Amino acid sequence: MTDVTRPATGSPSSSPPRTLPVVSNETSQSLCQSCALCCDGTLFGKVPLELAELPPLRELAFDIMEVLEQAHFPQPCAKLVESRCSVYAARPKNCRG
Ligand code: SF4
Repeated sequence: MTDVTRPATGSPSSSPPRTLPVVSNETSQSLCQSCALCCDGTLFGKVPLELAELPPLRELAFDIMEVLEQAHFPQPCAKLVESRCSVYAARPKNCRG
């Protein structure tokens, strides 16, 4: 992990700069597959989906909801198993960011 000094937003100009950790891709990947906050409903209520990705997700039995040509599935995600994504390699585009 590398530390990078960045100005804290909204802090008085006389405050010392705050040091924030920068997480490596490897650490980020590990966190992505273990904390579950993006998948258990803590941070998001649903995951928006592109219409083109619906067929393969239907094959994986995602609980897809479509309203006025917009699709999503609700959180907590049914594919979350013991704090890990059970379909990680095939997860939707919005789960990859
Ligand atoms: S598909 Fe995987 S990564 Fe996406 S919300 Fe569900 S458990 Fe999380």
